Amino acid sequence: MSRRTISVFGATGSIGESTLDLVRRNPDQFEVLALTAHSNVHALAQAARATQAKRAVIADEAHLTDLKAALAGTGVEVAAGREALVEAASLGADWTMAAIVGCAGLAPAMAALKTGKTLALANKESLVSAGDLMMSAAKTAGATLLTVDSEHNAIFQCMDATAPKAVRRIILTASGGPFREFGANAMATVTPDMAVKHPNWDMGAKISVDSATMMNKGLEVIEAHHLFGLPSDRIDVLVHPQSVIHSMVEYVDGSVLAQLGTPDMRTPIAHALAWPERMETPVASLNLAQVGRLDFEEPDPVRFPALRLARVAMEAGGAAPAILNAANEIAVAAFLDRRVGFTAIAAIVERVMERYEAAPPASIEEVLAVDSEARRISAALIESEFA
Ligand code: NDP
Repeated sequence: MSRRTISVFGATGSIGESTLDLVRRNPDQFEVLALTAHSNVHALAQAARATQAKRAVIADEAHLTDLKAALAGTGVEVAAGREALVEAASLGADWTMAAIVGCAGLAPAMAALKTGKTLALANKESLVSAGDLMMSAAKTAGATLLTVDSEHNAIFQCMDATAPKAVRRIILTASGGPFREFGANAMATVTPDMAVKHPNWDMGAKISVDSATMMNKGLEVIEAHHLFGLPSDRIDVLVHPQSVIHSMVEYVDGSVLAQLGTPDMRTPIAHALAWPERMETPVASLNLAQVGRLDFEEPDPVRFPALRLARVAMEAGGAAPAILNAANEIAVAAFLDRRVGFTAIAAIVERVMERYEAAPPASIEEVLAVDSEARRISAALIESEFA
């Protein structure tokens, strides 16, 4: 591979750190243009030094002075604020990792797509909220959009792009999260500490809670719809607690292709980083004899209503997925702050979806306006009925 410039948005998070781990193992192959974080000055400065990044951007402007001090004398350019994120995304890195959590990642991801280079997308919330706009921006700019979500990356690896009509359905696997076997009463007692401990994956707090409610799988159904152009009834979800099969594609002749691997996000990240080639990773080889067995079951729609809500939003289209996503972000944050219970998360999302409808957004600004109004309604609802 020839040396490429890369930028990592959300560099201090779980995906960002895994990405930089691969970059640091291959210093001759990558030149780091921009790294960003929200408020973690220490980790951002450390990553910028370690990778000799050209620019470090902190989203929360209140931390600019600290970041300047932390990087004084290093030659790393320093900037802060949302506009600075968009500007950094417009620098035109050959490869950009979108790993900001939540809809906050949308504007930089769109800016990166508009450069016509390669965007590796972990930030599923942006695609859920603005899927049509992002897909069409990628097409117009001639950008390459590579998915890093392990399930979608698995589907991409199993998908025969030359014969899309031969695909009968895709099957997204789901671990089922830490509460797969909990009864309804036990679910009501779940705490944030319990919810952020995922049985197979080491992830940020928000996606860990999404995984526990299975909203993560709902968001992924919407994500798959945009990435692979399939309707809801051809995107199935199958609970597979070992997280060894990352997803599958079924063809019209009955063949089912699956991608397997040790659950470690460095595999899908490396796939996107090296694509269309392959690169070495330190990920442990899959030892199926040690795994012993692979189990499967249908998701339970009663204990995990979030999956149904996501399908409702997807089928409604327009602004509905952005509303679903924003309500979920606010509800998860309230749960992590111990202001609402675990089972309230899906209930809040459902209530906001019933309360708020908006015209289909025709621009990113309109998506962000819907997002912001849905957040306001969610916060008010939590205050008046759930807190
Ligand atoms: P983390 O919470 O670990 O990291 C989030 C990153 O985004 C941090 O760098 C954080 O900065 C930054 N950030 C947070 N809020 C903002 C904001 N408002 N503006 C700008 N930057 C912000 O998340 P993950 O790495 O787990 O997840 C990142 C994305 O990848 C999510 O969309 C998630 O769904 C997706 N994903 C994650 C997987 C995983 O295994 N972790 C798997 C598949 C997808 P700071 O550190 O300063 O707060």
